[in-house]
Amino acid sequence: MRKDFLVFGSPLIGHEEIDEVVATLKSGWIGTGPKTHHFEEEFKKYVGAQYAVAVNSCTAALHLSLIALGVGPGDEVIVPSITFASSANVVVHAGARPVFADCDRMTQNVDPEDIRRKITKRTKAIIVVHMAGRPCQMDEILSIAKEHDLKVVEDAAHAVETEYKTRKVGTIGDLGCYSFYTTKNLVTAEGGMVVTNDKAYADRIRVLSLHGMSADAWKRYGSEGYKHYDVVEAGYKYNMTDIQASLGLHQLARIKKNWLRRAEIWKMYDKALQGLPLILPASVEKGDRHAHHLYTILIDTDKTKITRDEFLNGMTKRNIGTGVHFRPLHLQPYYRKTLGGKVGDLPNAEWIGERTASIPLSAKLTDDDVRDVIEAIKDVF
Ligand SMILES: *Cc1c(COP(=O)(O)O)cnc(C)c1O
Repeated sequence: MRKDFLVFGSPLIGHEEIDEVVATLKSGWIGTGPKTHHFEEEFKKYVGAQYAVAVNSCTAALHLSLIALGVGPGDEVIVPSITFASSANVVVHAGARPVFADCDRMTQNVDPEDIRRKITKRTKAIIVVHMAGRPCQMDEILSIAKEHDLKVVEDAAHAVETEYKTRKVGTIGDLGCYSFYTTKNLVTAEGGMVVTNDKAYADRIRVLSLHGMSADAWKRYGSEGYKHYDVVEAGYKYNMTDIQASLGLHQLARIKKNWLRRAEIWKMYDKALQGLPLILPASVEKGDRHAHHLYTILIDTDKTKITRDEFLNGMTKRNIGTGVHFRPLHLQPYYRKTLGGKVGDLPNAEWIGERTASIPLSAKLTDDDVRDVIEAIKDVF
């Protein structure tokens, strides 16, 4: 058995990141500044968007996106139930009401037909989530949005590298939001980015991300001398710092290399996990690209008595860290209480929620680590 615990989602940090962080610390300016700006420029080039605003989380990115779209009290926003809490929490923060939609069992992405069923006169926007790094059916979703005059926000927290019909996701809807949290594909410890092709959204989000102070307020301590700022909105404290951007710049430079390594590990899992009572991740359509963020297996409860939770415990005992992405949000206590979510509402989300488990998939893993994971899984069954 493996001797040390294999941490789930441990990121690969190179000496370039470390040197850049140290240089930033010594530079005299560690807050939002030139490196954050540089990171925004590089990121928007990578995804092919016109505007990018760096913030301190994807949650902040999603929240500001909804505000920029004018979502507020009385509005409904459709959100998939299989996602991280913040995709729906931000709707509440904006004063609106999340309406949960079901997903497809195999892709785990939101089902466009269920989006259609959930639309009411109050619906203002749709948040889609590219689960595990697999693109959503954006053509169908955009056509529904157009038909009903709805805005689309892409939660691309798993999906920096994801492509839908050769286009980077996050640039297809009205706004795209990314996460650079410690376990994601590009890591700044905490961090996020909003991209859009709409200048008005980008300008407003930039102002809102830093207290509602007029644009470029961070330059007020620079060599050009003190500059007064105006407070034009009651904004938020959502800005990214140059320390985080120092990590992001080098993580972005290595994004393809890391993605290729994860693709390699993905193939090793695909091959080694055949014949076990598991449903393995489905492949993507031609022309699409999977970001390979999460290797999520579904415990095939028709073929084994081992439950998902027993599987997780078995992996922990064998020193392998795991994750669960996700248990459905409509059944979380807060959403049961406030929205009346109950078992049976969204059968596919609930089906996934009972079976899903994520196994380690990081560019940091060695072939020996991957073999340990595979051995542990076989041993559990
Ligand atoms: C991680 C995650 C988020 C939140 O990202 P933060 O940067 O931690 O705020 C949002 N949506 C999904 C789908 C996520 O997995």
